[in-house]
Amino acid sequence: MTAGAPAAAEAGVQALTDAHSQLAEAVAFHGYDEGTHATLAASRRELTVSIPLRRDDGSVEVLTGYRVQHNISRGPAKGGLRYSPGVGLDEVRALAMWMTWKCALLDVPYGGAKGGVAIDPRLHSRAELERVTRRYTTEILPIIGPQHDIPAPDIGTDENVMAWIMDTYSVSKGHTVPGVVTGKPLSLGGSLGRSSATSRGVVHVALAALDSLGIEHRAATAAVQGFGKVGRDAARFLQQAGVAVVAVADQYGAVHASGGLDIEALARHVDETGSVVGFGNAEPIEGDELLELAVDLLVPAAVEGVINAQNASRIAARVVVEGANGPTTREADRVLADSGVLVVPDILANAGGVIVSYFEWVQSNQSFRWGLDEVESRLAERMLGGWHDVTRFATQHDLTLRAAATALAVQRVTEAHRQRGLYP
Ligand code: GLU
Repeated sequence: MTAGAPAAAEAGVQALTDAHSQLAEAVAFHGYDEGTHATLAASRRELTVSIPLRRDDGSVEVLTGYRVQHNISRGPAKGGLRYSPGVGLDEVRALAMWMTWKCALLDVPYGGAKGGVAIDPRLHSRAELERVTRRYTTEILPIIGPQHDIPAPDIGTDENVMAWIMDTYSVSKGHTVPGVVTGKPLSLGGSLGRSSATSRGVVHVALAALDSLGIEHRAATAAVQGFGKVGRDAARFLQQAGVAVVAVADQYGAVHASGGLDIEALARHVDETGSVVGFGNAEPIEGDELLELAVDLLVPAAVEGVINAQNASRIAARVVVEGANGPTTREADRVLADSGVLVVPDILANAGGVIVSYFEWVQSNQSFRWGLDEVESRLAERMLGGWHDVTRFATQHDLTLRAAATALAVQRVTEAHRQRGLYP
């Protein structure tokens, strides 16, 4: 086990407990029976695999990988693949369940899945990562495919990993199958707009949330935790919309500038040095401090459980938009609701990624590329449609946005399940 793995395992247990308790609340809201509840709570399939890795020095190390398909009532299983040292089955189960609700909520015709490999990609060469990816793909081959389960990037994986999965799968089938993954490089049938889609979606709902509270974009301040696949472009797009992004954190530290950071300059600094730390024209702050800044908008765009029982009462933002999956624990959720913080939940806020993954899959299956304008306008339409569905339902039933989003999603999955019937 890698250092930090026990803490990560605990976080995984927390994530799964929280996911189950969100589901239980939705089931109680709808008054569904115990059998329906149990069906929705269980993963449809779970696969744990050993991945022997030949290191560059010739030694062999055995890693563990997972693929969980939570539900496939509405279509093929869909969800990212995470490379992270402490990833375990409980975390992957929770993330797979959230994918089911996310796809249902945004009416993307998929079920939910997630994969993980317990590895720190920063400690491995590109050649080692390729071998791990190809072996993992070979092990999960029986349960993936364009009509079965379609992986995509998540923490620690990128378009190169998707290209290796696609190639390994295609070689095993004897023909090229671009629809087996999304988040591919453009040259292999990736979609325009996919790499920034999650961030675009985060910003669409963040601006809608600010509007709903009567906060002018140009007078608003924001703090962004995470400067990777989601946080970096979210900070850029917020700044382009006139919001002052006053603080940004990555895993190494955080920087703050009360007049707003120059995000393009910060991005260049990160490209050169690998971290936000040491960025000029800004003061260094602690990563945890960022979460407690008195800003209009807080975007946690890193990992699970960062807003928790320890710091929830000190969150001073007016709106929290969850770029990450599961950044707010259940206990913290209650504290934030009681103190009037508007939380836009992950299954809505970060759905832009899987929405454009769906567009990519449609394009791959039809061997036809859409223009960027088409991708972006369809993404905006779906994100804002989701925002309206959730806010309307929340107002009608006096629910938090998370409870409303989960209830709506659970209803759609249950409807699909009931219409198909229980077999045999
Ligand atoms: N990993 C992303 C998520 O958590 C994207 C999943 C996908 O595109 O399938 O939503």
